[in-house]
Amino acid sequence: METIQLSIFVIFGIMTILLLVNLYIISGYSKINSAVPSFENNENSVIFVGHGTALIHMNNTNILTDPNFDDWIIMFHRIREAGLKIETLPKIDAVLISHAHRDHLDKWSMEQFPKGTPVLISKGNGDILRDRGFTDVRELDIWNETTIKGIKITATPAKHSGARNSATADYPLALSYVIEGNRTVYFAGDTGLSNSFEEIGNKYKIDVALLPIGAYKPRWFMKSHHMSPEDALDAMEMLGAKEMVPIHWGSFRMALDSTDEPKEVLLKLIENSSMKEKVHILENGEKYILK
Ligand SMILES: [Zn+2]
Ligand SMILES: [Zn+2]
Repeated sequence: METIQLSIFVIFGIMTILLLVNLYIISGYSKINSAVPSFENNENSVIFVGHGTALIHMNNTNILTDPNFDDWIIMFHRIREAGLKIETLPKIDAVLISHAHRDHLDKWSMEQFPKGTPVLISKGNGDILRDRGFTDVRELDIWNETTIKGIKITATPAKHSGARNSATADYPLALSYVIEGNRTVYFAGDTGLSNSFEEIGNKYKIDVALLPIGAYKPRWFMKSHHMSPEDALDAMEMLGAKEMVPIHWGSFRMALDSTDEPKEVLLKLIENSSMKEKVHILENGEKYILK
């Protein structure tokens, strides 16, 4: 057991050095024109802010997923600017946190929101937010439901660790969410490919699935925790989702795939197929209007 832990430690040490070298020598920081979000026609839409962060505007309600507007995740520096500025966000009616890893539950970002903002989080992780003064923290177990301004939100499974300091612990949970308003949106958070997608697909008619495609290399380790672009296409099919918006790529380089590699691989996979019409690859700050 100790040998396994030591080898994981050594491998992560090597990866960290590689990543730091990459960050400072190869990767440049790309600025983008962060826009102020507007929903003039009150359209149901998703703005991809970057990484796991998306602003879902539905039924005149703003739901923000895994807010991360920070420049750093421990030693990983942001490579591409967030697509929206935290100070120009509209009033957020609820924040959905998929799990407690630092790239998804960013304390600095959370501190920018009013303490009464409803925050949904996986069972066992709520104290992280209560300790910071949040008063409406809704801890959910798998298949638990809650309502935000008439929108039903159900916690659904994810194949990932929800623990703040572990990549492999089974508890606290990691969640994905099904959000049912005028449309049904699925937010996967972080997850490996699993049969749960079929289970979720059997219960809900998903219009658009926000599926992670990045931080997937090396496969021997990441496969159980993160989907590859190919896995995300399989997940979309298992879910029976009509459309897909890929997330978890392009803002932080946290694994051995390069910054835009997930996007490029996904583009190649769909280029000559009907999936091209159904997979909407958004740059940070871009909006997709739900059909
Ligand atoms: Zn994670
Ligand atoms: Zn992540």
